[in-house]
Amino acid sequence: MPPVARVTPTPARVFILGGTTEGRELASACAPIPDLEVISSLAGRTTSPLLPAGKVRIGGFGGIDGLTDYLRQERIAAVVDATHPFAATMTAHAVAASAQADVPLLILRRPGWTEQPGDRWHRVPDLATAAKLLPDLGERVFLTTGRQSIAAFAEVDACWFLSRSVEPPAEPLPSRLEVLLDRGPFTHIGELALLTEHRVDVLVTKDSGGSTAKLDAARELGLPVVLVDRPPLPPSANVAPTVEAALEWLRRGSAVACTPG
Ligand code: NAP
Repeated sequence: MPPVARVTPTPARVFILGGTTEGRELASACAPIPDLEVISSLAGRTTSPLLPAGKVRIGGFGGIDGLTDYLRQERIAAVVDATHPFAATMTAHAVAASAQADVPLLILRRPGWTEQPGDRWHRVPDLATAAKLLPDLGERVFLTTGRQSIAAFAEVDACWFLSRSVEPPAEPLPSRLEVLLDRGPFTHIGELALLTEHRVDVLVTKDSGGSTAKLDAARELGLPVVLVDRPPLPPSANVAPTVEAALEWLRRGSAVACTPG
């Protein structure tokens, strides 16, 4: 990864596109660093978001040009795109706007999950394929793809769904649906109890990476899992898999020539 190589005013401003645990962890790690100001950006999808340390702005930019203007006006020294692996539009905009504004960009993206012995995974390229496959695999479905993705399953009348999301999902919705409003982290024991209590026979998830609690529980119960593949990263993207690697990228650059306090 090339380091940040810019001469910027003090304090140097690092801009984190967030909405993830990693985005919050990076903001917390940056906050005590002297001569560094961290600004995080959230899309504003949830009514009570977990707020990162430091400054926070909320809402879209109005596309690539809006983000480019923001980076220039705020004299941002470095951008870290720490959005969710499935927030592909935001990532594409971050790549284009950083290039236009000539600001170094790092994509902080946790690795996807790896299949373990005993897993019964069915990898699919998108939500529509997941919806088509489901009736062949089970009848009682635990849907953990997020509330914006539930519409893709609205026509699957052969299945009953338990969906879990932070906010209530919007229509269209499957005809047989129970909504569970909850926010992680989730535990292995809790996921086991949930799957058993609701007599779930198939799990659907995006390949988000991170905690494996629900995947471990599904393996233990011998349940099939439909795993939606990630959208591809932009070509020649500068990617770090961990918060520590992102911090190292920032430390190596002249914009943030310091160590954590
Ligand atoms: P998306 O489809 O890639 O982005 C759509 C638009 O939302 C973007 O073009 C941008 O609007 C705005 N946006 C997205 N992330 C933003 C951010 N961090 N700050 C400011 N504006 C943002 O994104 P999405 O999949 O709807 O995800 C929205 C947010 O939820 C992201 O921050 C992501 O990290 C988080 N999230 C997503 C998922 C998921 O499964 N997709 C799961 C967990 C968390 P403009 O074009 O107007 O700038």
